Amino acid sequence: ASARSRSKHLFNRAKAVFPDGTTRATVERDPFPIYLQRGEGAYLIDVDGSRYLDLNNNFTTLIHGHGFAPVAEAVVDLLHSGTCFANPTEHEIALAELLTARIPAMERVRFVNSGTEAVMFAIKAARAFTGRPAIARIEGAYHGAYDWAEAGQGVAPDKDGWEPAPVATPAYRGTPPSVAKEVHLLRFNDIDGLQARLSAASDRIACVLIDPMPSRAGLMHPEPDFVKALSQTARKHGILIIADEVLNLRQGYAGASARYGLNPDLVTAGKIIGGGFPIGAIGGREEVMRVFGTADARPLLSQGGTFSANPVSMAAGRAAMAAMTPHAFERLEAMGNRLRSGLRASIAKRDASFSVTGATSLFRIHPKRVVPREYRDAYLGAEATSLMRGMSRHFLEKGILLPYGAAACLSTAMVDSDIDLILSAFDEFLEAETQSGKE
Ligand code: PMP
Repeated sequence: ASARSRSKHLFNRAKAVFPDGTTRATVERDPFPIYLQRGEGAYLIDVDGSRYLDLNNNFTTLIHGHGFAPVAEAVVDLLHSGTCFANPTEHEIALAELLTARIPAMERVRFVNSGTEAVMFAIKAARAFTGRPAIARIEGAYHGAYDWAEAGQGVAPDKDGWEPAPVATPAYRGTPPSVAKEVHLLRFNDIDGLQARLSAASDRIACVLIDPMPSRAGLMHPEPDFVKALSQTARKHGILIIADEVLNLRQGYAGASARYGLNPDLVTAGKIIGGGFPIGAIGGREEVMRVFGTADARPLLSQGGTFSANPVSMAAGRAAMAAMTPHAFERLEAMGNRLRSGLRASIAKRDASFSVTGATSLFRIHPKRVVPREYRDAYLGAEATSLMRGMSRHFLEKGILLPYGAAACLSTAMVDSDIDLILSAFDEFLEAETQSGKE
């Protein structure tokens, strides 16, 4: 690979204008970020002219990869005829019709500009509907930057290990202490903890916020009994369920909740439904979504947003989603299955201390022999973190951009040879690892 001299130069320029040189905390730098020139289908081309297979796809947003022609065609006319208005357009209805027709829990929908905003309004809607202030959420899961949604996302063990029952801690210094008091943490796949926690504070909890396969917490499968217990316990106490599908809506034509048997009252979406443009959506049961209604003078919950439902995001999203036919989802899933079983075969062949989680077009490699069931199992200490950084570096040398510590994803722009490339890069990495382990 090149010395990436142009990226290095750009990073030096960026340091003068951005704190720490970047404008998103999630930008990976090793030691500086790779600045991109452009994307091309499944590939990225950086400013130094190197090409990489993109397994990040802007954190799982670009389900068709880069420069998808139907999206470009859908937005190019809009660029000349007006990109945002105070008045509504037909574009928003068309995207809403597509989503409500596919996703069972989305009887009604509202559009916003990001996943963070979608989660924020879903929580507010649950509060407005129930009249309760608190939320319950899964330890270690990522739900964007609303104060209550982020309290408890970055929990770490102390020197004596993990507290048996997790306690929400503020995400940043200066957070009002009341925030953490109104956040109850649950451990993923822990039925007893879930029942105890929800029962103990049921009169204050408006909702359980849950990603059906929390990616940053480990991209683990929800166990069917846990899903069942969650539904039963929440119903019993009048607590709403918010399924955060900002990332996992890509798991199927009807989304992730439908796939895993979860029956939420509210669903949040984002990423893929904007076709590469900013978007978020809150959907849900008609009765609950009525909190947004303005029919009776003042709504229970007012939700606006200068760029909400702008025609560019709406039309791009519609074009991207229309191309995600049941057949397109099946093809992606088949590619994902081949990839995950290939990775597992490499691990088994070398008896390596690794495991793989994920489903459909998503996967995550863990430096752990036992497949994680919850955040604590997937949590990486300093040594494992540096091992995973080394793995990303190895992939980069093989021309693959593997997000470090986050879910990796496939796109419809990929073909079988791209999967082979990933498999051989991983097998070579394991070979080098097991060799060095023997020395
Ligand atoms: N919820 C989940 C599950 C997410 O994965 C993300 C983004 N990674 C968000 C919320 C926040 O979305 P955004 O970055 O669009 O604000």
